[in-house]
Amino acid sequence: MLKLLNVEKQYDNGVSALKNVTLTVEQGEFVYLVGQSGAGKSTLIKLLYRELIPTKGFIQINNFDLRQMKERQVPQLRRTLGVVFQDFKLLPKMTVAENIGYALQVIGKSDTEIESAVQQVLEEVGLAEQATHFPDELSGGQQQRVAIARAIVNRPKVLIADEPTGNLDPQTTEGIMEILQRINDSGTTIIMATHNQQIVDELPHRVIEIADGQIVRDEQGGQYTHEV
Ligand code: ADP
Ligand code: ADP
Repeated sequence: MLKLLNVEKQYDNGVSALKNVTLTVEQGEFVYLVGQSGAGKSTLIKLLYRELIPTKGFIQINNFDLRQMKERQVPQLRRTLGVVFQDFKLLPKMTVAENIGYALQVIGKSDTEIESAVQQVLEEVGLAEQATHFPDELSGGQQQRVAIARAIVNRPKVLIADEPTGNLDPQTTEGIMEILQRINDSGTTIIMATHNQQIVDELPHRVIEIADGQIVRDEQGGQYTHEV
């Protein structure tokens, strides 16, 4: 369902951020992307939701060929993906419900459909009472739950997360990981870049380690650090 073949990404300034990356992820997998700062994790994540286009190679996700596809097809691709960021990226002037419902409004869902979908995801992330709050009235952990609710409201096949717990304390992190695990249990593929050793070691899943733009380890149920 997700396939990269000999993918390279070179930035305009000449930095080669990814080199010859080949990778397959099946529907329903949970994958941690680990590696030092500057290794290329964010670049890989951005290629997956087509924020970036590869310099070379082939990327296919949910049957979209990301290199060949037309610009006008990008919204269709994005509807099959949910994306969550370290800094939440909620719209500050919209309520929680509006932040979540906005994407559904854009694709022309009716108000009743939106209302029920928003209520449903808010219950799933434990924020049913906060629908009418604004982001700055919520804690960091609550804001990330809203961002996750927004990412899954379309029921995407893949949820992509770039350091989703990077701004959160350990206890809040645990709550976010419980939610992501539940989403994965329901069949959604999860690709998550993280620096958090405790998460990777305590909630084992496939670990893909990137160093200097290349995959140096790909291990089922791996730990954060590699025994040499
Ligand atoms: P990570 O997410 O693992 O910290 P990144 O993917 O952000 O790594 O960065 C990989 C490499 O690409 C680094 O050398 C970084 O400086 C470089 N890089 C990232 N974004 C850009 C950009 N927009 N322009 C030029 N170089 C970039
Ligand atoms: P992250 O590792 O989460 O991407 P960074 O602080 O490395 O966070 O990067 C923040 C932003 O700056 C990203 O959009 C990244 O693409 C960009 N960036 C990173 N390194 C460079 C670079 N060397 N030149 C230009 N932009 C960069």
